Amino acid sequence: MPGMTKNKELLMIPGPTPVADEVYEALASETYAHTDPRFVKNYSEAIRLTTEMLSCPGEVYLVCGSGTLAMEMAVVNTVKPGEKLLVISQGFFGDRFIQLGKAFGIEVDFIKSEWGKQVDPEEVSTKLSAGNYKAVTVTHVDTSTGVIADLETLVPLVKAHNALFILDGVCATAAVEESMTKTYGSENFTIDVILTGSQKAIGCPPGLAIVAFNSLALAAREAMSSIPAYYADIAMWRPVMENPSKYFATPAVNMVNAYYAAMKLVFAEGLSQRYNRHSAYGRAVRSALTSFGMVALADEEAAAPTLSCILYPEGVDDAAFRSALSAKGLVLAGALANLAGKAFRIGHMGNTTPEMLRQTVKLIGETLKEMGRPADIEAALKHLETL
Ligand SMILES: *Cc1c(COP(=O)(O)O)cnc(C)c1O
Repeated sequence: MPGMTKNKELLMIPGPTPVADEVYEALASETYAHTDPRFVKNYSEAIRLTTEMLSCPGEVYLVCGSGTLAMEMAVVNTVKPGEKLLVISQGFFGDRFIQLGKAFGIEVDFIKSEWGKQVDPEEVSTKLSAGNYKAVTVTHVDTSTGVIADLETLVPLVKAHNALFILDGVCATAAVEESMTKTYGSENFTIDVILTGSQKAIGCPPGLAIVAFNSLALAAREAMSSIPAYYADIAMWRPVMENPSKYFATPAVNMVNAYYAAMKLVFAEGLSQRYNRHSAYGRAVRSALTSFGMVALADEEAAAPTLSCILYPEGVDDAAFRSALSAKGLVLAGALANLAGKAFRIGHMGNTTPEMLRQTVKLIGETLKEMGRPADIEAALKHLETL
């Protein structure tokens, strides 16, 4: 169970997520020199815990930036301009890799699922057979739709074609299992790169980009004499990751301290407990909201443990609903693209507590009633009783 928090608002969006007191305390620590042994130790420990969390058999990079920088680092360090990248997209964040790849002169191909659905494995298989892809990107949980990717199906398909498997874990890492030593059907069918950000399921404020590479992915960087990046070039950061007292660009000292505190909370809880807690949160929140007559965009089998995209019942105005909740201290996110106004997104990840979820469901029920809708709050809260 995550720690207590002094947050005044219930920040139930798909990131940033509620920050625990231990993390705030670390963030407010004295700013030491980036070469100070006390800081260097925290940086090393933060990298070590990240390596352990992802069972990374290669190298972890922890640098100042958001999740989008982590996406960029994952791609530019493995795929050369002119080489082919296949983007498997299940929503807005999956699509981001298309533009990102093109910005670096990479030849990008893509498969998009219908929003709310997983991609069709047949289509993936056909694409992979037709193209000679250096790498494939998969978004573990697409934050626009609340759909989780089916890694059991996708990893073997991609690896059978010898492409690098790049996993965007920004809305999943630390809440859904992501292991780089896990094999998917064959000894060398593993995830090659995992990237993430600090502010979602890890429960830290925004500001750090995290990328893990296995030896195959690192070899791809080594095979390129130069890449079209400077700050995002892992060759620049490698000496720092090996010995964080070295300098390339000033690390975000306080953010690294906060991230280290957040990682300690992850391990204090235990990875498998944490994964189970998130699965239970996802199911419970969706059942509770369903009892208010709301429907999740994703089918339950494809629905993410970390966030849900919930369709409004006919006639509920998005802006009125969310601003009424915001006045009560509960922040929900709007939906993106074609779903804007038709759905809202609710995060249930990181250091969110069961009490926060109960309060969230209660406030949603009260607001629906104020808007003249029936809502049995007692019945909805029953779905959260076992958390
Ligand atoms: C939030 C998110 C991103 C982008 O991260 P930023 O920190 O906003 O740059 C990328 N991928 C996924 C899956 C996300 O949820």
